[in-house]
Amino acid sequence: MNEQSFPQSFETRAIHAGQPADAATGAVVTPIYQVSTYKQDGVGGLRGGYEYSRSGNPTRTALEENLAALEGGRRGLAFASGLAAEDCLLRTLLRPGDHVVIPNDAYGGTFRLFARVVEQWGVEWSVADTSDPASVRAALRDRTKAIWVETPSNPLLGITDIAALADIARTAGVRLVVDNTFASPYLQQPLALGADVVVHSTTKYMGGHSDVVGGALVTSDAELGEQLAFHQNAMGAVAGPFDCWLVMRGIKTLAVRMDRHSANAARIVDLLTGHPSVTQVYYPGLPSHPGHEVAAKQMRAFGGMVSFRVAGGEEAAVRVCDRARLFTLGESLGGVESLIEHPGLMTHASVSGSALEVPADLVRLSVGIEAADDLLTDLTTALG
Ligand SMILES: *Cc1c(COP(=O)(O)O)cnc(C)c1O
Repeated sequence: MNEQSFPQSFETRAIHAGQPADAATGAVVTPIYQVSTYKQDGVGGLRGGYEYSRSGNPTRTALEENLAALEGGRRGLAFASGLAAEDCLLRTLLRPGDHVVIPNDAYGGTFRLFARVVEQWGVEWSVADTSDPASVRAALRDRTKAIWVETPSNPLLGITDIAALADIARTAGVRLVVDNTFASPYLQQPLALGADVVVHSTTKYMGGHSDVVGGALVTSDAELGEQLAFHQNAMGAVAGPFDCWLVMRGIKTLAVRMDRHSANAARIVDLLTGHPSVTQVYYPGLPSHPGHEVAAKQMRAFGGMVSFRVAGGEEAAVRVCDRARLFTLGESLGGVESLIEHPGLMTHASVSGSALEVPADLVRLSVGIEAADDLLTDLTTALG
């Protein structure tokens, strides 16, 4: 394994943690070990612990060590998608009859996993407004095993006080899980704030280039890390070597990208808040946002996701999406290119009719790292 200790700053760890020069060749970048099995030096004589790539692969090891270093955890695990990571976590933590508190504006796919899959296995869940610690405390039951949090949340950019919920979770003896996809470890460090597990869709800011689907779990609890690693291998939804390599390449520029995403988003929020066609703007960087103070306390900057409501209802919101040119109409987020979408009809169609339903006049932006002036021009045209 690539044991290395990196006391350095985040930016340095992003580039180097888990990735010493290749022992065989000196290659500066971790190679893509596109291989399923490994020659043994006599039965059981494994080189570096590798026997089969579902159980372990050197490219994946590099990414997993890097993820652990970036989140300040002891164990990182890489999966084929964010939902595969969530599934592994839930099947590790939960047994029939157990209960989970989930947020009232969870990512649509996470909600679907609870409501349509996990529930069939006898796991109960209930919804709470996680931005209100009292609402979470009230939702706890005898068999509650975990509190699930997304902050900032999707698509309404709600903010949850991670440290406050960590207190509640610790007192109740339940795990606090934080989906850190929207913030990335550069902007927010949930483990340091008391969370037990961090979840990522590395598809988003970590990969950062809209060219890979992946997921991750990071924990600072060594025993839980072992249990997760057992389930990762036993269930098998691992990230392939090339996908790991793409995510690692993305992570090397995470810090500079997040700074630019955040700066561009701030410019766009300025435009939107003064625009006559916009009735409400959701961005934690706005002093009027109800979670602004908590966000300012637990985040380094406010990120690149912005949502807003358009005067004229669903039709008007759809028209804004259709008229944008530089903002590409599409799902997903966190890439270098700017995206626009209508959550009600696209990413959040699966929560329609539930407690998680989103406003019909809502538009969500994933603000990219293009020149801010070009983005402002495009949005101004789209708003008409
Ligand atoms: C995309 C996303 C997921 C799911 O990840 P996939 O890689 O699409 O499986 C989970 N949580 C959040 C916040 C997301 O944005």
